[in-house]
Amino acid sequence: MTAAAPFPEAEGVAAGQVRSTCPYCGVGCGVLLSPDGAGGVTVKGDPDHPANLGRLCSKGSALGETVGLGHRLMRPRVNGADAGWDEALQLVADRFRETVEAHGPDSVAFYVSGQLLSEDYYVANKLMKGFIGSANIDTNSRLCMASTVAGHKRAFGTDTVPQTYEDIEEADLVVLVGSNLAWCHPVLYQRLVAARKAKGTRLIVIDPRRTASCDGADLHLKLEPGSDVALFNHLFAALYENGMLDAAYLPNTSGFNATLASAASDDVSVTGLDPRDIDRFCRMWMGTEKVVTIFSQGVNQSSSGTDKVNAILNCHLATGRIGKLGCGPLSVTGQPNAMGGREVGGLANMLACHLDLENCDHRAAVRDFWEAPQAPDTPGLKAVDMFRAVGDGRIKALWIIHTNPAVSMPDADRVRDAIRDCPFTVVSDITAETDTARLADVILPATAWAEKDGTVTNSDRTISRQRAVLPAPGEARPDWAILAEVGQRMGWHAAFDYDSPLEIFREYATLSGIAGRFGKDFDISGLSEMDAEGYDQMTPVRWPVAASREGGRFFADGRFFHADGRARLVPVTWRAPAARTEPRYPFRLNTGRVRDQWHTMTRTALSPRLAAHLAEPFLEIHPDDAGDLGLGAADLVEVQSPHGRAILRARITDAVLPGQIFAPMHWTGETAPAARIDAVVAPIVDPVSGQPESKASVVKVTRMKAAWYAFAVSTRPFNPASAYWARSVTRAGHRAELAGHTAPDDWEAEARRLFGLPDAEVAVMADPGRGTARLAFREGGRLVAAIFVSPEPVAVMRDYVATLPEVPDLSLLSGRAPADRPDPGPILCSCFDVGVNTILRGIEEQGLMSVDAIGAALQAGTNCGSCRPELAALLAAARSKEAAE
Ligand code: SF4
Repeated sequence: MTAAAPFPEAEGVAAGQVRSTCPYCGVGCGVLLSPDGAGGVTVKGDPDHPANLGRLCSKGSALGETVGLGHRLMRPRVNGADAGWDEALQLVADRFRETVEAHGPDSVAFYVSGQLLSEDYYVANKLMKGFIGSANIDTNSRLCMASTVAGHKRAFGTDTVPQTYEDIEEADLVVLVGSNLAWCHPVLYQRLVAARKAKGTRLIVIDPRRTASCDGADLHLKLEPGSDVALFNHLFAALYENGMLDAAYLPNTSGFNATLASAASDDVSVTGLDPRDIDRFCRMWMGTEKVVTIFSQGVNQSSSGTDKVNAILNCHLATGRIGKLGCGPLSVTGQPNAMGGREVGGLANMLACHLDLENCDHRAAVRDFWEAPQAPDTPGLKAVDMFRAVGDGRIKALWIIHTNPAVSMPDADRVRDAIRDCPFTVVSDITAETDTARLADVILPATAWAEKDGTVTNSDRTISRQRAVLPAPGEARPDWAILAEVGQRMGWHAAFDYDSPLEIFREYATLSGIAGRFGKDFDISGLSEMDAEGYDQMTPVRWPVAASREGGRFFADGRFFHADGRARLVPVTWRAPAARTEPRYPFRLNTGRVRDQWHTMTRTALSPRLAAHLAEPFLEIHPDDAGDLGLGAADLVEVQSPHGRAILRARITDAVLPGQIFAPMHWTGETAPAARIDAVVAPIVDPVSGQPESKASVVKVTRMKAAWYAFAVSTRPFNPASAYWARSVTRAGHRAELAGHTAPDDWEAEARRLFGLPDAEVAVMADPGRGTARLAFREGGRLVAAIFVSPEPVAVMRDYVATLPEVPDLSLLSGRAPADRPDPGPILCSCFDVGVNTILRGIEEQGLMSVDAIGAALQAGTNCGSCRPELAALLAAARSKEAAE
């Protein structure tokens, strides 16, 4: 049995080191954790983990900075007051039971998360679907890859990822579709970069926006948002016309004629691409046997997301380029255990272990296995519909686990209001300081990543152990234990009588054997007899793990999971994004991620070095549009849709096309309340997958006419209250950008209130006539806070000033670094704290001519490599500036 083979004791692991898994993205990197005995932990990449082979990105490298307890919730809270577990859990059990008794099982819901371990997820799903009797459990993975799940099921008959990460190294051509791999799955990108260097793998990026992943690409297709189906249909037709289909493999599929007819009738001009680039794309694809197409949120988060997935799969299926070494479609998931959620049935339209909720034999088998009183025969509410039902009162009791829908759902203001007004809301999380937790009636303290034991599955079906290395703080408990106790208190003692995650894992693995007997792909029954030692020492394993099949690949043999054993080619035709631009809303808004933040920042915002990369929410806008709107660099802009508004800092760049804008999705009520971009995003979903269209809302953009702008730093936390603010942590304390519509009469009084320094010594430089003021506060002879105010966006050397209290008084008030201590600028290389200005100086003064030369001279880019595309972009910009001069 592959997985149960123990880790060679201590091989590659130093004394005191524990193997675990990074809790951020779906790459699922292995980490070596060394607790320091004082609550901290150092983190290294695990050289033996097949996902990363020792690499980590900037986020993974900074994990040690996020395990502090300052923000942690230590005990349950009921209606804002501390409570005991007994009181809190009995209340949860009673309210859910009473609600079900009074209004039926569909009056309650769970909204869970890809942050859960598979064991947690399994118990949540069993409780809702088997015992409460509703399928109203959905996960934030609905926002991430539900369209891929739906596309896989349509094409393959099951939700199987056929490829593995090794295929990236084996491919001769990698096509990234709607994927900024360099920032969102950085270690996979590093693997791709290494392969390109080693064997010249070619790279095509298909994305409306120029991202870090485009660095050195052979071709970047800046297609119109949402037009991917038309492009891949064109490719499908070209494959046919050029005799490039695989006649031997095609009989393993059905639906060819209809698919060809759809593909041939589609109009590729809607992509807006130069026909020569389209032709080049087709020729590169057709001329390469080993093609891996990696796709992600740009494909999934669309009102035609499922069709986009099938348009891609159609091309791979019709050419037999699937399931083979270096050859096939590879969906990469957002979260560490998004795949685990798919496997345990965390989505409202699935049973556990890839069994089908609408199949009565599958339902009966699961119900019997669980000895459950019932099993719902209709799918539950998917995320967007679930929160609509919360809003209109159909759902009356809601349990939200490790996710922050008041920020991350589209139409976020309405979702926030719905949660607030829900008769009973429970939140399980590691902190009470989230937009969602602040709305809950009951908040339950859950263990965090480094305190949890269980398993996760990454994007290439590899199951890895997550291991606890730190003790649970305060009264925090594992999620599986919280859920199981509520199940018991609701009356189902035997079904939820678990003592350990191992017990749950074994039950789950056993159930998967039933799925295997139904002919399903997900079968890990080979692990169902695992003992405690085997679980403790479990090595990463790619499923399936069963007597009938172990690891390996799917579909190269031409066998699929539809009843007839064949795959489906799915006829699809291009549809424009559901919302149309119009004179009132002329811009198309794309949302996404930045390199060094994760989701709603509950952990990454704790790390000064991650915050230093991009410290403020921003809006990318094309120079032509900025000109039309009268925007200057660093102006604040208001983005408005029929659903809500957000204020962000303008970044004028030709990375986006005219008429298109981009904003990151991370900032929240805790970090920049006016910049919650999902308040602007329309709650439009893909009709098949229910996944929201988070990348194509229509909006208008205007310049925010602020009366004043400010930049503030302090050694202590402070709470701004202006119309716009965005804060982050620094190594020395905290910093914030602020702006408001009415300037205070007395800046000193205002600053004292802001910083909570009524008596501190102050130095002031002010020009009331011009509306400028600079104030520095000192306590005990030490600088503790400063604020710079201006009627225009503030121009100071922020990264230098943020090193206060190290800064001399005088240079602080000037806002400029002295010549002997140059301003490093915004941090580009988080691993070695190398700023943009330092790199630019190196390029100019030391003649650094390559990314490697920068690394050799300044160390930048020599550890995790996440910043290498940005280094390349800086170099290119410096060279073109030089050429222009
Ligand atoms: S790529 Fe980075 S964020 Fe993703 S799992 Fe690996 S270390 Fe974590």
